[in-house]
Amino acid sequence: MSDILLDIQNLKTSFYSQKGEIPSVNGVSFTIKKGETVALVGESGSGKSVTSLSIMRLLESPGRVKSGGILFEGKDLLGIPESEMLKIRGNDISMIFQEPLSSLNPVFTVGNQVNESILAHQNISKKEAKARTIMQLGKVGIPNPEKVFNMYPHSLSGGMRQRVMIAMALSCNPKLLIADEPTTALDVTIQAQILKLMKALIKEYDTSILMITHDIGVVAEIADRVLVMYAGKLVEEGDVYSIFKNPKHPYTKGLLNSTPNINLVTDKLESIKGTVPPPNQLPSGCAFHPRCEFATEECKTHEPPMFHIDENYLVKCWLHKEIEKGVK
Ligand code: SF4
Repeated sequence: MSDILLDIQNLKTSFYSQKGEIPSVNGVSFTIKKGETVALVGESGSGKSVTSLSIMRLLESPGRVKSGGILFEGKDLLGIPESEMLKIRGNDISMIFQEPLSSLNPVFTVGNQVNESILAHQNISKKEAKARTIMQLGKVGIPNPEKVFNMYPHSLSGGMRQRVMIAMALSCNPKLLIADEPTTALDVTIQAQILKLMKALIKEYDTSILMITHDIGVVAEIADRVLVMYAGKLVEEGDVYSIFKNPKHPYTKGLLNSTPNINLVTDKLESIKGTVPPPNQLPSGCAFHPRCEFATEECKTHEPPMFHIDENYLVKCWLHKEIEKGVK
């Protein structure tokens, strides 16, 4: 039996307006194995969140998956009816977002919401669901879960709300958890606690994770494998150790150089000049070339292919060999 849980094949997602099509995700392919934690990293506007919403089929109009395949346990999620997708969502695949307050309903108690999520997917009594909810709240480190069960989201801190979201997401023991910037809205101490909690839960539940983040520090904490995304495409993919030790794409190198405590490439902290281009104004050739200090004439006119360094390491840069050797 294959150990591939999720297989994204040449995914293309666009937004449509009267002015035409604006591609946001432009031919992204990757896999996630059972029990593996994969980080999808890049600055805002690179297409990370659109990728995750496409997988969940939660993208709102005018966004639409244009083509490609999203195979979950071999089944293409793009080809199944919404009724079947509803069963998969929350049961086999769960999602947590950056701001738990916008995902939790303010007029229902925390317990009620976790309960509902369990009852929607499991054939158990209300009494059993309540017991499971309280157990789950305790498992994610919420003190006095019986009391918190009856509290409303606004009366909890940001860190506690994110713990509630994690409890809800894991309540049906999903095979895949998609976490979209789960620690971004939290202060540094709470961030560390939530990451520690997620790491422990991954181990306990053997859940695969797709961690969407702009913060490469989070990647170092949690990921087995890293996908670096820029302007709607993957530009580098490899195991976390190799990527951190010796990145081969200037963009990845820039992300590492600009992160305090993670900066292993040079001893000075540098930011990447410029910003991610809007999807409807992509430059010719390599989309990173206006920001790349190594850009050549070829980079400006010809888009690099994805070079396969080995079966697990890919990089989309004409000069990857020079960058790897530190010649560039
Ligand atoms: Fe820089 Fe050229 Fe590599 Fe693009 S292909 S990242 S412009 S060196």
